[in-house]
Amino acid sequence: MAEVEKRRAPAPAPLEWEYAPAPEARDIVSLQERYGLFIGGELVDPRTSEWFTTIEPATEEPLAEVALAGTEDVALAVETARDAFENGWSQLAGSERAKYMFRIARILQERSREFAVLESLNSGKPIKESRDVDVPLAAAHFFYYAGWADKLEYAFPGRRPRPVGVCGQIIPWNFPLLMLAWKIAPALAAGNVVVLKPAHTTSLTALLFCDVVRQAQLPPGVVNIVTGDGHTGAELVRHPGVDKIAFTGSTEVGKAIQREIAGSGKRLTLELGGKAANIVFDDCALDQAIEGIVNGIYFNQGEVCCAGSRLLVQESIYEPTVAKLKRRMATLRVGDPLDKNTDVGAINSQEQLERIQELVAAGEEEGAEIYQPPCRLPEKGFWFAPTVFTNVAQSYRIAQEEIFGPVLSVLTFRTPEEAVEKANNTAYGLSAGIWTEKGSRILWMAERLRAGVVWANTFNRFDPASPFGGYKESGFGREGGRHGLEAYLRFDG
Ligand code: NDP
Repeated sequence: MAEVEKRRAPAPAPLEWEYAPAPEARDIVSLQERYGLFIGGELVDPRTSEWFTTIEPATEEPLAEVALAGTEDVALAVETARDAFENGWSQLAGSERAKYMFRIARILQERSREFAVLESLNSGKPIKESRDVDVPLAAAHFFYYAGWADKLEYAFPGRRPRPVGVCGQIIPWNFPLLMLAWKIAPALAAGNVVVLKPAHTTSLTALLFCDVVRQAQLPPGVVNIVTGDGHTGAELVRHPGVDKIAFTGSTEVGKAIQREIAGSGKRLTLELGGKAANIVFDDCALDQAIEGIVNGIYFNQGEVCCAGSRLLVQESIYEPTVAKLKRRMATLRVGDPLDKNTDVGAINSQEQLERIQELVAAGEEEGAEIYQPPCRLPEKGFWFAPTVFTNVAQSYRIAQEEIFGPVLSVLTFRTPEEAVEKANNTAYGLSAGIWTEKGSRILWMAERLRAGVVWANTFNRFDPASPFGGYKESGFGREGGRHGLEAYLRFDG
């Protein structure tokens, strides 16, 4: 017996692993000093004559100057897009549109290292994520939707699908290139033209994408990129020449957009925040679940709308789960995003770091117990150590509000009914995870969870064929799959 116990005793946490630096070379990226707005197939200076500096969040070093688009610039981009729509693109056969999209997908693959390095430089995310997730998935979206471009009649039989027109697309900073692909690929497949505004902290991969658009010889004006800040986004929303707005970002801005366009006849899809429950039952494969929990909240520094930021653990396995989780957290490597061994990179901006710090301070004040594994954070740049809170009550801000950082709140439950009630007890409804060996329980739970995506025995899995979107304050409309096409089509005869 003693022998068995000894063998089962957990090995000591490998706190002192030493890894030699394994930096990805950054010289594959050649940056311009200044970038204009991509309108009508060319980079043009903004009419505002204003520019802003975009930085590397890991070092706070400037990377380039980016144009700040104003009212006239947005108007020019929308008019140019309209012209491209009416004078060519909307009449083009679906099979011809598909050719351009396949080209874009292939060029993204060919230039994947360049995109991955630039994405990590400008956003702070680890290179292994940009290299293995963001860029391949972005290419996969173009491949997937290229396949639909000439099959719209089959996707929506008898409904005479037609393009909507000019689509204004506003994207956030957490997955800059991937969100661009989520927006642009279905829009083009459906025969629309786009004016896209990237987030001001992460414009560079969208600007590199302009190069891909030119390389693919996409007709000028079909894709236009206007860089700028929230005001630029608001101008795009307001412009009367825009037929549809697709927005991913905060619930607050999503609501403001909805108010702004109410009654205008513009279509709208909103992909907003989340506060996903990752639900762990006592019959699950616990070591596998720990990997899923870690991936769920520390992937991309927790700056993920569908992050598993609330861990619901069945009471009977609470202690071993938290012990194993802390042990695993101690092995996470935080640091240089360009190092291939890095698990957790830099927070995207000073502003976001302050938001995380504020909510973490609120968690401590409200009485939750904080744990952070020992880790050395770089002196310059924006960093936050992987964090877990235990003793969390459902009413605490850290259990209700989206933190958008590497911060996990642990709660417990006894029965599946209680797990469902707690999981659904937020204003959001974007995603959820279930860990159990029982298929029937997975189905029972999935039916009751108010979440657009439910993962079972995995987390944060994405596929272009699979629809993604939320309930309640997580927004409406779906991206991905055939559902994602529907938002870019009209069926009015
Ligand atoms: P925002 O919602 O402000 O930004 C998202 C995008 O909208 C950006 O391109 C932004 O431009 C633009 N924007 C800002 N204001 C307006 C406006 N009035 N009209 C039109 N477009 C606008 O998110 P934040 O960057 O401020 O992040 C705040 C919080 O939002 C995060 O802490 C997180 O909780 C949540 N969030 C959720 C995301 C998700 O994927 N669901 C993504 C990002 C944030 P610019 O960046 O240039 O200001």
